[in-house]
Amino acid sequence: MKYKLLTAALVFITLLSCVEVEQEQRIMTVNGAIFSTDLGVTLIHEHVLVDWIGADSTGYHRWDREEVIERVLPYFMDAAGRGVNTIGEFTPAYLGRDPFILSELSRQTGINILTNTGFYGAVDNRFMPAYAFDENAEQIAQRWISEFEDGIDESGVRPGFIKISVAEHTGLSEVHQKIVEAAAITHNETGMTIFSHTIGDQPALEQVELLERNGLHPSSWVWTHAQSGTLEANIRLAERGAWISLDNVRFDLVHEAGQEGSIDWYADRISAIRDAGYLDKVLISHDAGWYDVGEPNGGDFRGYTDIFDFLLSALVDNGFSDDEIEQLLVVNPANVFGLKVRRSG
Ligand SMILES: [Zn+2]
Repeated sequence: MKYKLLTAALVFITLLSCVEVEQEQRIMTVNGAIFSTDLGVTLIHEHVLVDWIGADSTGYHRWDREEVIERVLPYFMDAAGRGVNTIGEFTPAYLGRDPFILSELSRQTGINILTNTGFYGAVDNRFMPAYAFDENAEQIAQRWISEFEDGIDESGVRPGFIKISVAEHTGLSEVHQKIVEAAAITHNETGMTIFSHTIGDQPALEQVELLERNGLHPSSWVWTHAQSGTLEANIRLAERGAWISLDNVRFDLVHEAGQEGSIDWYADRISAIRDAGYLDKVLISHDAGWYDVGEPNGGDFRGYTDIFDFLLSALVDNGFSDDEIEQLLVVNPANVFGLKVRRSG
């Protein structure tokens, strides 16, 4: 249980720091509500399991829960060894979300896990259930709200945030507008923050405007995969209050300094947003994992440690203080996951 000591050390640092978590907000983990001040070091966007087969064929019958837990557990323990207390699990329904696994994994590792409600509209809607096309925004929202109130399936596990996605590099289609409106209704009822897989500037801007027309403040919304957008758009939307999630930090792909996707590139993007005055809107994670259903023993697995092993030292090289790193890993995650209705005006 050595990792508990490291965790305790990080919690102690948190208590001494000057940056602040908004007080007394509840955060919903797979094993119940906790206070935002107890969230600790958090990786906001990772994956345990993904099933790419499509909404019409996926289901719990497609994987063996014990095999998945056995495969994923060492990577969770590696993260715990770096001081991680909490992981946001971003696999949506119809893509391999399994609250039974997440609940058990949390129990076995001591790491808080959050799961989600919502639909994933990207990739030509192949992960959207057929009824999503027939129902209106209100009906879809009622499904998501009832998951929040009653739990997902028979698991008793409640979602902690809304995860949606829209088509990439293009304006919002009618069905994706409906999904965003359903998310707005769900946010208003539950206070769950809306995380939206959004590739490129245009769909990001359109969603923020649509949410504003529905009476929400942009801080109800997270530009998930904001690294796909321009720095200018990242800053413009942070200025309006949206969260900027730079969430595919990885060391293994791009090694040339400054090249898009490299560790240095992430450090520079985060630094530029800090210099513009919006570090309090930045979220970082790996978007790593996962047990890939259909591959032998889940296929290749990317662990959840590159931020600690590579990115933090690059941030320190860029002049980041301990408080600023605390802001990224502890304070911003606590504030973004806090259950709170964020209306405009
Ligand atoms: Zn993801």
